[in-house]
Amino acid sequence: MKRGEVIVYGAGMSGMVAAWNLAREGFRVVVREKEDSFGGSRTFNPSTHVTPLDLQATSEYVGMDITPAFHRVESISLYLHRLRVPLPAAGAYAVERSSRPSGLDALLYVRCLEAGVEFEFGRPLRREELESLPQGTIIACGLNPEAYQYLGIPSLVWEGWMSRGESEREGYAWIWLDESITEYGYASFCNGLYYNLLFSYGRSVDREALRRYREFMLAAEDTDHEDWEYVKGVVPLAVPDNPHLFHNGFILCGTISGAMDPLMGFGISGALVSGKVAAMAVTEPERAEEEFSRFTRNFAAVHRFKHHVWYKLRSRVDLLEGLAETLGPELSLRLLAEGIRRGRKSSAIPGFSPVSCH
Ligand SMILES: Cc1cc2nc3c(=O)[nH]c(=O)nc-3n(C[C@H](O)[C@H](O)[C@H](O)COP(=O)(O)OP(=O)(O)OC[C@H]3O[C@@H](n4cnc5c(N)ncnc54)[C@H](O)[C@@H]3O)c2cc1C
Repeated sequence: MKRGEVIVYGAGMSGMVAAWNLAREGFRVVVREKEDSFGGSRTFNPSTHVTPLDLQATSEYVGMDITPAFHRVESISLYLHRLRVPLPAAGAYAVERSSRPSGLDALLYVRCLEAGVEFEFGRPLRREELESLPQGTIIACGLNPEAYQYLGIPSLVWEGWMSRGESEREGYAWIWLDESITEYGYASFCNGLYYNLLFSYGRSVDREALRRYREFMLAAEDTDHEDWEYVKGVVPLAVPDNPHLFHNGFILCGTISGAMDPLMGFGISGALVSGKVAAMAVTEPERAEEEFSRFTRNFAAVHRFKHHVWYKLRSRVDLLEGLAETLGPELSLRLLAEGIRRGRKSSAIPGFSPVSCH
């Protein structure tokens, strides 16, 4: 017997995890998606993402075996300008976001259909329908600015240059730090695809920054990607107390809830976990609130660290470069590995083993 109906807006990672969990509990679940089919936002996908993830523990927490969609990353290079510091890649995975059978979205979509979830494609959230939506409607619209505007959720604009296409490289990623951007340039490779993004928060990224990045790529990675597009999105990372599960009678899910690592912007893990928490919020709101707080409890501290320490270091990549050169690659790597180990142990940040860090 059906327990009632739940509407979910957004057939992305978090929305489909929430929908699948609710359908299995006996709810009639209708997912309304802006795009014409599954596969996430066409502005950004097909794409490949890299994330630190406790794959087993996350699978267990969300209740679904997501392991077939994730592929181990063999190596990651951090570049301070052109100085390469190899990063520890243990625990990092690449995943494809697309409607292809190899994408995570296809895995989630098939599971949802099997559980009886109904989909309405080409059906965006509309401002004028907000008041008539039932309490407990789940909003999982990712990085799309309209949902933030309609719901009055503070957000921070990010923008930059994106290139994507086919590649023979696999299981590799790089991150590039340079003063011309506030965040980073990064490329990841998986399932015969690459995805490359050079972005800043709160300011535009000019063509000169892109020229520098491409010059770096050629010199350090012997790679030139073409067909760069300028893209924009929003994240709710502007305000330290931003993560929210409940908002004016709605349940927030995925990026829009703020379940996204505030330092680097890793969102995969947080989206998956928050999909489960959003489903829990329908039946056990108090428990869901506790879980949500548990996963995001260090966000305010990380936010402060980012603004008061990281951005100061980040604005002088030449100093970081000099330090890494003085210490040498081995010691730099050891220090980085230790920092990451401690971060994972003490942190509840999605992206840093959220479900096994306690
Ligand atoms: C360019 C880019 C690169 C990224 N790289 C990484 C990375 O390497 N590693 C990492 O961990 N994280 C990365 N992230 C973050 C991560 O992808 C997100 O945090 C994650 O996708 C969030 O999942 P979600 O369910 O919130 O949103 P999504 O999976 O994006 O799903 C949102 C869905 O809602 C739909 N939608 C949007 N607006 C509406 C509307 N108005 N009505 C109905 N449906 C709507 C969209 O079409 C989409 O299908 C990246 C994000 C972007 C944009």
